[in-house]
Amino acid sequence: MDIKVPRGTQDILPSETGKWQVVEELIRETCSLYQYKEIRTPIFEHTELFTRSVGDTTDIVQKEMYTFQDRGDRSLTLRPEGTASAVRAFVEHKMFGYPDQPVKLYYMGPMFRYERQQAGRYRQFVQFGIEAIGSADPAIDAEVISLAMAVYQKAGLKKLKLVINSLGDTESRITHKKALVDHFEPHIENFCSDCQNRLQKNPLRILDCKVDRNNSLMATAPSLADYLNEESAAYFEKVKEYLSILNIPFEVDPNLVRGLDYYNHTAFEIMSAAEGFGAITTLAGGGRYNGLVEELGGPDSPGIGFAMSIERLLLAVEAENNKWADLSNLDVYLIGMGETAKKKTVELTNVFRQNNITAEMDYLDRKIKTQMKSADRLKAKFVLVIGEDEIEKESAMLKNLSNGEQQLVPWNELVEKLKNSI
Ligand code: ATP
Ligand code: MG
Repeated sequence: MDIKVPRGTQDILPSETGKWQVVEELIRETCSLYQYKEIRTPIFEHTELFTRSVGDTTDIVQKEMYTFQDRGDRSLTLRPEGTASAVRAFVEHKMFGYPDQPVKLYYMGPMFRYERQQAGRYRQFVQFGIEAIGSADPAIDAEVISLAMAVYQKAGLKKLKLVINSLGDTESRITHKKALVDHFEPHIENFCSDCQNRLQKNPLRILDCKVDRNNSLMATAPSLADYLNEESAAYFEKVKEYLSILNIPFEVDPNLVRGLDYYNHTAFEIMSAAEGFGAITTLAGGGRYNGLVEELGGPDSPGIGFAMSIERLLLAVEAENNKWADLSNLDVYLIGMGETAKKKTVELTNVFRQNNITAEMDYLDRKIKTQMKSADRLKAKFVLVIGEDEIEKESAMLKNLSNGEQQLVPWNELVEKLKNSI
């Protein structure tokens, strides 16, 4: 049999899961500091949820979804992103009626996209994201961005770049859209077939095209910045002002449009500027989506959020050559010599664990020397040896591996002794 993991997926091995847990923990801590509460939604949803919210002109919906018919002939899709589900749940559970608004949510879990695999791009990846729904205050835009920055900083990243833009409100976008169509239409035959389709439906998406990115018409395309109406421009100014109050440096990139249909006003990306990070430098993307709640059947509730993948965060940490703290945590390794001693090690191992002392022992009847090597490899703080002598004295030889000191300790004093020294 020669079955391997499916293309684009990976096993995260025990030697790697430690740093995943560290990152997951720091994410949960940060969300708690900022008062975002976790929401867990299903891994699959009705396909229509994504076509309606992400938008049917996007790469995600057109090329990347894992869509299947279930046995009841429903069209279901493995979730490619988290915002649609969070907003669906917001509407379904009438969270707009909660006394405390905005509703601040976070999620963390696997997402699925049928993509070409490369470094930092998988078919199953873990996204962490937040959503603040129910406020159109530019200060919450700044809070959302600052939470993402805080997570990266806590993970040790220093070479971060925040890029922001405003997509404006509906009115601004309509006038801009018209200008885009006028700009691209005369030359549209030089663009890829996707862009030709986008021209009338969603010309903004042309600016985000990975195939035609070097076409000279891209650089000269009418910039959104010139089409923002007064209200949208004022909103963007306030977001920038709040970012400054939070001491978050940013760059404005008028070409940043983001892939998903539902964005308006604030759009942002956080990139790694670390050398050697590779072709993909975007760590996180997000933006405001006023109108999405209504689109999914709720009342008019403005929202903003972002998503990042843990995979890219870990790659960025690696690219900056940051080391994870040593995660080994074995307090004591027990070695028993002989049949009676073995029984005692089984018993003591259990007692230690019941007292929150991490303990390990041998289950292969290996030589003492081999067991000692195991204790070293596992970075045990102490080794506990029980032989015939010790059995007679109802004691054990406790050796501190960091300084080599050893002493005979009575069995009934071991827990206290270990608790005091670790
Ligand atoms: P890209 O332009 O790299 O395809 P995107 O615009 O499709 O990104 P979003 O849908 O905004 O990405 O997702 C937000 C974040 O999720 C990205 O910034 C990235 O960290 C992560 N992400 C997206 N797709 C993948 C993937 N296939 N593998 C790993 N991480 C991903
Ligand atoms: Mg993508």
